[in-house]
Amino acid sequence: MRIEENYSLLKHNTFHLPAKTRWFMEYENEEELGRILRDEYFQECVSLHIGSGSNLLFVDDFRGIIFHSQIKGIQVAEETDDSVLLQIGAAELWDDVVAYAISKNWGGIENLSNIPGESGAAAVQNIGAYGVEIKDVIETVEAYSRFSFEKRIFTKDECDFAYRHSFFKNEQNEPYIITHINIRLNKKPVFTLYYGKLNEVLGTYPEITLANIRDAVISIRKEKLPDPDIIGNAGSFFMNPVVSIRYFEKLKTQYPDIPSYPLGNDHIKIPAAWLIEQCGFKGKKHGEVGVYEKQALVLTNLGNATGDEIALVAESIRTAVNEHFGIELTPEVKYVG
Ligand SMILES: Cc1cc2nc3c(=O)[nH]c(=O)nc-3n(C[C@H](O)[C@H](O)[C@H](O)COP(=O)(O)OP(=O)(O)OC[C@H]3O[C@@H](n4cnc5c(N)ncnc54)[C@H](O)[C@@H]3O)c2cc1C
Repeated sequence: MRIEENYSLLKHNTFHLPAKTRWFMEYENEEELGRILRDEYFQECVSLHIGSGSNLLFVDDFRGIIFHSQIKGIQVAEETDDSVLLQIGAAELWDDVVAYAISKNWGGIENLSNIPGESGAAAVQNIGAYGVEIKDVIETVEAYSRFSFEKRIFTKDECDFAYRHSFFKNEQNEPYIITHINIRLNKKPVFTLYYGKLNEVLGTYPEITLANIRDAVISIRKEKLPDPDIIGNAGSFFMNPVVSIRYFEKLKTQYPDIPSYPLGNDHIKIPAAWLIEQCGFKGKKHGEVGVYEKQALVLTNLGNATGDEIALVAESIRTAVNEHFGIELTPEVKYVG
């Protein structure tokens, strides 16, 4: 177990913000986690569990304890002729899990290639890309309550997954720390290829295989997203808003080119990037904060931005989109501090 005091989070957030935390604790296994959770001093402190910090915005120093898991490993928990159930430690990097699955020719998560972050957080966020979400493969999630310190195994239904949402994200719920996720992969993969750009790029490959899908996804993502190791960012800053068909039709009379994804329940998803671009933010710099030139949904730290400055630019984007389109953008990134 590692415990640090007044610890810099610079290496623990992909915006590269030099925020500090009063306490930082890293545990190797469930016993160590249990010991930390039962510690009376730390029970009084505000706490936050982080993964790789690729979806966090530190707007200030954190005055409590930050937990970080080192529980790793990918185990085959069950195997049939058709599928395999994997138990994955929460700290295992998600993209390493995808690479491992593809090396075994197990399908289901290839479209989720190259998404930064750890496996526990991937479930919290219900990560998604190119028509696939992690909820499609999750069978159960293993977690410890921070209040009762008891372990609970959540079924997929209990995880309450929705677009970039899960039970674990809901601030009203008893806070849980995920130690493992259990995902079922297909030995006879069924490809999800309806996403236009993915189809187009795959057309240049001689055949469609899991490895080629991963390769195509990575090349598309590298083309349009900044590498967080080089340019500080947290991926999509906002979620794509969902509006009623009625409201969408009204917008369409004013903006005939407005892109849309029907959700099949009288609601339409509109790409937030398009709305932001229409408001003139794409490629613009605001002091040390940039709106990425290839993808208006991504805010970047140009070098010395503070969390507050990034939050201010995000707020001016929200205001502009609301004034232009009457649509409220919701941040996907979690504000901390
Ligand atoms: C360049 C880039 C591209 C991205 N592309 C995508 C994309 O295509 N699709 C997508 O969905 N996301 C994308 N993201 C967002 C991000 O990668 C995901 O949200 C990822 O799951 C966050 O993982 P993390 O380990 O960094 O979690 P963090 O950002 O550290 O934490 C995220 C949340 O999970 C909680 N958490 C973390 N670990 C645990 C745990 N063990 N138990 C309980 N709670 C925990 C945290 O408290 C927080 O609420 C992208 C980000 C970047 C920087």
